[in-house]
Parts: sequence; C-alpha cells; structure tokens
Amino acid sequence: MLYAGVAPRKARECRPSLSPPSTSRFDAVLALGQNRAMVTIDHQGRFGLVFGVANHRSLAAAIGEKLAASGARLAFAYQNERLKDMVDKATQDIPNRTLLECDVTRDDDLERTFGRVKEEFGALDFLVHSVAFAQKEDLEGAYRNTSRDGFRVALEISAYSLLPMSRLAAPLMEGRKGSIVTLSYLGAERAVASYNVMGTAKAALEQAVKQLALDLGPSNIRVNAISAGPVNTLAARGISGFRDILKIYEERAPLRRNITQEEVGSAALFLLSDLASGITGTTLHVDCGYSIVGY
Ligand code: NAP
Repeated sequence: MLYAGVAPRKARECRPSLSPPSTSRFDAVLALGQNRAMVTIDHQGRFGLVFGVANHRSLAAAIGEKLAASGARLAFAYQNERLKDMVDKATQDIPNRTLLECDVTRDDDLERTFGRVKEEFGALDFLVHSVAFAQKEDLEGAYRNTSRDGFRVALEISAYSLLPMSRLAAPLMEGRKGSIVTLSYLGAERAVASYNVMGTAKAALEQAVKQLALDLGPSNIRVNAISAGPVNTLAARGISGFRDILKIYEERAPLRRNITQEEVGSAALFLLSDLASGITGTTLHVDCGYSIVGY
C-alpha cells in the first residue's frame, strides 16, 4: 500500500514497499498529517499485466515496481526466450510475479498470454503497454526514406499492438474499474530529428488511446498515455543522437534536468489507480516541463 498523505499512526503500519518514502518526505508527512484525511493507493487483491520489461532500466520495470509496492499482483510479458533471464533479474524483487513469453506481433501469443492471466488471476485490473520497435535504419537519416516494411513494422508493434491487448483485456476487466496505460513521446506531436517513423507510430498510438477510451469507457475501463521525457534505456539508445537529446532537455526543460524512471513509475501508478478515476483518453507529459517551452 502506498500512502500519498499519511495519518501519523497508520503510517507505521505501511507494509514493506519497494520504494518507501524518503525519510525527509516521511517526516514532512508526519508533521502535516495530524488533521488530514489519509489518502492511500491500495492495490491488494488487484492484478496487472505489464508488457515491455527488457532490463532493470526499462520504463515498464519502474512501473511494475510502483504497482507492486501498492500491493498489486503482477505478470510480466517479454518478447522471447532471449530476454527471459534479464526480465527475471529485473523483476526479482517483485513478490509472486509471473513471467510470460509474448511477441506482440503474434495473435496466438497474445491470446495465450491473456489466457494464462485468466487462469492465474481470474481477472485483470491494470494493463501496461510499454512496447515499441522500429528498424535501426529507420531511426536515422531522412524520414522520406522509410521503407514500406519499416513503416508497417514500427506502427504494428508500437501502436497497433495496443488494440488486441485492449480487446483481450476488456473481458477480464469487466466490473473491475480497469485501467490501461501506454508510453508515448513528444515525437507524436512534433517533428524530432531521427525519431522519424517512431514519431508517426506515437501519433497513431496517442490517437488510438482516445479511440480506445471512447470504446471502453462504457465498460468503466480507462485508457491513457504518458508522454515521457528521454530516459537512457535500450530502446532509447537505438535512436541516433539520443545523448544530445538528453543534454538539450537538461538545458531547456523548466526543471533543468531529465526525468527519472521512477517518475514515470509514479505517474503511471497515479493514472492506473482510482485517484485518476475521472481521467481517460489523455496524454500526460512527464518531461520536467520540456514540452511547454516555446524556443
Ligand atoms: P526498453 O526497455 O527497450 O523497452 C522496450 C520494450 O519493447 C522491450 O522490452 C522490447 O523487447 C519490447 N518489444 C519490442 N518489440 C516487441 C515485440 N514484438 N513483442 C514484445 N515486446 C517487444 O525501452 P523503454 O524506453 O523502457 O521503452 C518503453 C516504452 O517507452 C516504449 O514505448 C518507448 O517508445 C517509450 N518511451 C521511451 C522513452 C525513453 O526515452 N526511454 C521516452 C518516451 C517514451 P526487446 O528488447 O526484445 O525488443
């Protein structure tokens, strides 16, 4: 269980979490807490499926840690056998987690994965889509040279995959206030050098979030995106000039720094939780404010 604002005595009952509040924050909360109502994020008895952990740096790993710290039981889907050991290691501190192999380009893999979730959990509350891919040659040079196949691959893996996942998640979320979160980037809205076809895929993804929110809203399932600032992960390193992007953000973002994986994890936890019960179809920027700057 995670405590957002904590009443003093209850605070000590907090079960061990993977990211406990820092001492200074904890003290501040204790000082403030006397007359405040307690706000908790308690996901015990709730279930999540997380796609996109490649290693401990993955944004999906940070989201998984936060969800687990709030009490959720989790399954992690990884692309293929090659990744299994890394994913195993990256999620080893998460109690009782399940690992499932799933290439999101394969309908039979997706069906088997959600089938396993149904068998193991019986239901689903959270779906995290943190998956993207484009061919290396399509993340450098001129955008106009993107091949037909490169365009298809990038859009299929990075955007289309959210549709079958949502379709398969929906029946498992029935009657449970389900919540889906995906990961986007500013390249969806702006032209970013070298981001190329991935920008097109992210634009499609953000539109799909709106369309899915409309589809699934009547079933009380929310769908949102986080547009994250640059973070040094495997996928990010594949983008030509990525180190320069990190430097530019640090210089120009209002907070004069880059974001951390943990900040993406916290924002995702908020969007997935009932604290965000009125929010769907939106893209939340977690970028130290970079996207609001006009120079
Ligand atoms: P990451 O650790 O490399 O995660 C990307 C994941 O996508 C990997 O686990 C990758 O597996 C998986 N994937 C690719 N093709 C797949 C397939 N066919 N089936 C199943 N999984 C597949 O990088 P990340 O930065 O955390 O990326 C997560 C998400 O955040 C992506 O959507 C990315 O665009 C977005 N994002 C990242 C940043 C950033 O700066 N890092 C900023 C904004 C948004 P493989 O390793 O096997 O390919």
